[in-house]
Amino acid sequence: MILVGPDRIAEAQARIADRVRRTPLESSPSLSALSGAPVRLKLESHQLTGSFKLRGATNAVLSLSEEARQRGLVTASTGNHGRALAHAAKAEGVRAVVCMSALVPANKVEAVRALGAEIRIIGRSQDDAQEEVERLVRQEGLAAVPPFDHADVIAGQGTIGLEIAEAQPDTELVLVPLSGGGLAAGVAMAVKSRLPHARVIGVSMARGAAMSESLRAGRPVLVEEVETLADSLGGGIGLENRYTFAMCRDLIDDVVLLSEEEIAEGIRHAFAAEGETVEGAGAVGIAALLAGKVDVKGPTVVVVSGRNIDEALHRRIVSGGADETVSLGGPNP
Ligand SMILES: *Cc1c(COP(=O)(O)O)cnc(C)c1O
Repeated sequence: MILVGPDRIAEAQARIADRVRRTPLESSPSLSALSGAPVRLKLESHQLTGSFKLRGATNAVLSLSEEARQRGLVTASTGNHGRALAHAAKAEGVRAVVCMSALVPANKVEAVRALGAEIRIIGRSQDDAQEEVERLVRQEGLAAVPPFDHADVIAGQGTIGLEIAEAQPDTELVLVPLSGGGLAAGVAMAVKSRLPHARVIGVSMARGAAMSESLRAGRPVLVEEVETLADSLGGGIGLENRYTFAMCRDLIDDVVLLSEEEIAEGIRHAFAAEGETVEGAGAVGIAALLAGKVDVKGPTVVVVSGRNIDEALHRRIVSGGADETVSLGGPNP
């Protein structure tokens, strides 16, 4: 069963073309030498708002009915999806409400507010924030736009895969960060529709990787959430998962898991060898190559998904501090 097919991704590409950046695909001499095949980086860290999430959020906003636009949008994400949705809604003059718990740090709250969203502080957990989302949907008719398990969001993220296939039709392998699976599902569907022989490998942190555990179990499962340097990869996939579990199960060829030290090495390498500031989640593809955990046989593209990392943490990591890997940040759905 095709849940979000190539046509839907091609439509998303046309719809969002003048709202998002077509990000650079840069060759990496150091990773190519290491891997023995050409390696290129798809730099979504250069995307507006600092992550690829703007693609899915923009496609979701532009796909709303006129009625839904009048009422507005709501989400509980305080991380890259929250930023992206705030930006996308503001660009279209649509109201966006972001619900968050009282425990969300002030700098994150301000980052989302600065992008024009209305902030609603509620309760003391992510679950409380999610309940408020559901209440606003029920009682005020707002449209919920979740961070990954939504057809328009997946189609938007898939536009990265189309750009890769168009720019680099000899691609044999794509490495994609994997959390809820919206990115991996969309990219895999797009890449495989254009390049049927290409492989797509998902990369997650070893601790608390919900999609990886779910794929192994054969159904969505809950995982305990732990702090990780790849904070944008935290969070569950939802026991009621509708799209991304099935798509990842059917389209992803393999999943690679990384230690915190390996992720730190990816961040360091991105900065020292590529001159790129990349957050933990964005560095996992690079880290997987550095760790020798991927069998590279031909032209390879690494999706570098975002750059939003705490500055002080980034400074510590690139200056060599490997011990403080999990001293900052936390679950960032
Ligand atoms: C959200 C996010 C991911 C993971 O995307 P999913 O669709 O949840 O798998 C990876 N990297 C960054 C920077 C993100 O913000």
